Amino acid sequence: MKTRAAVAAGAEVELEIREVHVDEPRPDELGVKIVATGVCHTDAIIRDQWYPVPLPVVLGHEGAGIVTGIGSGVQGFSEGDKVVIGPAFCGECEQCIAGHPMYCAHFYDRNFGVQRQDGSKAFSDDQGEIGSHFFGQSSFAEFTNVPAHGVVKVSDDAPLDILGPLGCGIMTGAGAVLNVLKPKPGSAVAVFGTGAVGMAGMLAAKASGATTLIMVDIVEDRLRFAKELGATHTVDSKEIDPVEAIKEITAGGVNYALDTTGVPAVFSQMTKSLATMGHGALVGAAKLGTEAPVDIGTLLLSGIHVSLVIEGDAVPKELIPRLISLHAEGRFPFDRLIKTYSFDDINQAFADSADGSTLKPVLTF
Ligand code: NAD
Repeated sequence: MKTRAAVAAGAEVELEIREVHVDEPRPDELGVKIVATGVCHTDAIIRDQWYPVPLPVVLGHEGAGIVTGIGSGVQGFSEGDKVVIGPAFCGECEQCIAGHPMYCAHFYDRNFGVQRQDGSKAFSDDQGEIGSHFFGQSSFAEFTNVPAHGVVKVSDDAPLDILGPLGCGIMTGAGAVLNVLKPKPGSAVAVFGTGAVGMAGMLAAKASGATTLIMVDIVEDRLRFAKELGATHTVDSKEIDPVEAIKEITAGGVNYALDTTGVPAVFSQMTKSLATMGHGALVGAAKLGTEAPVDIGTLLLSGIHVSLVIEGDAVPKELIPRLISLHAEGRFPFDRLIKTYSFDDINQAFADSADGSTLKPVLTF
């Protein structure tokens, strides 16, 4: 069938909305009509070839939509089901079986290979084949085919127009906190970077009962918004040393910290801002080969833990429904991070995400 899709055809070049052909779902796939999809910085860095993903490709990996087709081997879904699409994984390797599918041995191939395991691609046009299955979904398309195992069924009254980012950015920040840091009630948490990922981390820390929530950034407006969302303290690290500020606020350091910036100097600040036996997690993406300084001489005595976390170490079928429940109770208001755009304005959404004027763009179809 024909569908409209936004095609990335060159690094740092605007996406082209084209009419393309989408094939039929394979036995292990669902056909999904995308209702809304988030835009994540990872879409931009792949378009710009930070990682060597073949172009042209249909990006997009925060899709939510309605099942329109069911592969012959898929069970548990019906046409018309509302779904949120998470990353792809094999389900069979050691990490998948151990409950950590975001560390699947085949994660890179399945999510960045931009083709099926048999080498086929779901999209094509008169210029040839177009990469598909980005993060198992390529959701910058009105219709797409996705491996069923990464798809999370949600209730019939679920608000699909806001749920897509639960499949990546929001899951990343919230999952790093809920699954990895696991802050104790009454604890102190610092989050470096107040984008959608950092804000989701803060909201999750608040929902967990952390009572000191310190947000660090270099953009004043974002820090003001973080306060509105519940930060107890904000630190403008353009103006003051965040490590000193955090130590002063907490009388020694935070129990947990999250670095969403991917900036080496910030990673170093995160390690130094932790209290003895504190736990810090990095989720911010950096170019391959990026190294960050850690003062192993001083920090050896502190017993800190540092984790590098992909996709919040989530099992999407387990975490996404929990985040939806917290949202429904008003304890996880991630919808406040979202601004919606029409699919036709996808390049504006990318630009607003890049210059920081929108925290989490969501495209609606
Ligand atoms: P964002 O750009 O909106 O937020 C990053 C924030 O960091 C910005 O507010 C920026 O002002 C701030 N910042 C930059 N330099 C800083 C500095 N020196 N000191 C303090 N703050 C600084 O991005 P986002 O959507 O929140 O995503 C955050 C990162 O997470 C991105 O790198 C994204 O690619 C990555 N990501 C990782 C995963 C994963 O699985 N690990 C998943 C999704 C996104």
